[in-house]
Amino acid sequence: MGLIDKVINFFNDLQPVYLVEFLLLAIVFFFVLDILRKNNARVIIVFFSLYVLAIAAIHYMSDKLPAYAVYFLVAIFVLAVVCMFSTEIKRAVWNSMKNGDSKYWDGATDRENAKECINEIIKAVQSMSKNNVGAIIILANSNMPNAILDSGVPVNSDISSALIESIFFPKTPLHDGAMVINGTKVQAAGCFLPLSQELNLPKELGTRHRAGIGITETINVTAIIVSEETGVISVAHGGKLKRYADTEMLKNTLKSFYWQDMIN
Ligand code: ATP
Ligand code: MG
Repeated sequence: MGLIDKVINFFNDLQPVYLVEFLLLAIVFFFVLDILRKNNARVIIVFFSLYVLAIAAIHYMSDKLPAYAVYFLVAIFVLAVVCMFSTEIKRAVWNSMKNGDSKYWDGATDRENAKECINEIIKAVQSMSKNNVGAIIILANSNMPNAILDSGVPVNSDISSALIESIFFPKTPLHDGAMVINGTKVQAAGCFLPLSQELNLPKELGTRHRAGIGITETINVTAIIVSEETGVISVAHGGKLKRYADTEMLKNTLKSFYWQDMIN
């Protein structure tokens, strides 16, 4: 039987119960993939997709492999992922029961709020730059891995320049590590980020800058870094660092975070 005939037969044999089964499987897949994505396990997502594709290909090419064997192979993989990420899955289940507080973006109401946030963040960053206070702020979109958030302290407060500056004030408990901004809230502070292993960075960039670059290499977030040594403000995105950020660059960075990343 040719591939086209098989596809036609597949659709002819399609019964509502298969659709329900497919839907349920899709929900489980979406849930598992979402947890993997949030925990930065992209390699596993790629491997998982290839694994499922390979099994499907074998199934369609050889009539000898019955459908339950396919389900069995997929189930083994899902089981392996569940064992590896049991803590993360438990946390995701608990979080999903907490009225989904990650949906912070509320159209027009938050648009005004976001403008205020942009001004407050710029005010804080420029003031810290003037006073040589070191800082690292991550603009995230509910996509920081839980492992990183857990390395810091939850803050969950509205953004204000006073709050940002107090957190980074030297010798305070939370000044070390990164602050994570999630939408219009300061989500956490004192977070430990993965360092970039890039060999060609200028020698004067130490661990703070490497941390800012490192996190943007693997996750779609933006880092704003203030150097304690020089007061220079830098912006990292996609593993690239732009130094000497002026008001214009900061404004553009924050606008694209609030208007594009969040509304989409
Ligand atoms: P600066 O120009 O401010 O001196 P730098 O790039 O030279 O920055 P360091 O002097 O090494 O970097 O800065 C050390 C500070 O960077 C630490 O006190 C801490 O606050 C922050 N930092 C270092 N590593 C990390 C990390 N992995 N995650 C988050 N923050 C970090
Ligand atoms: Mg230094």
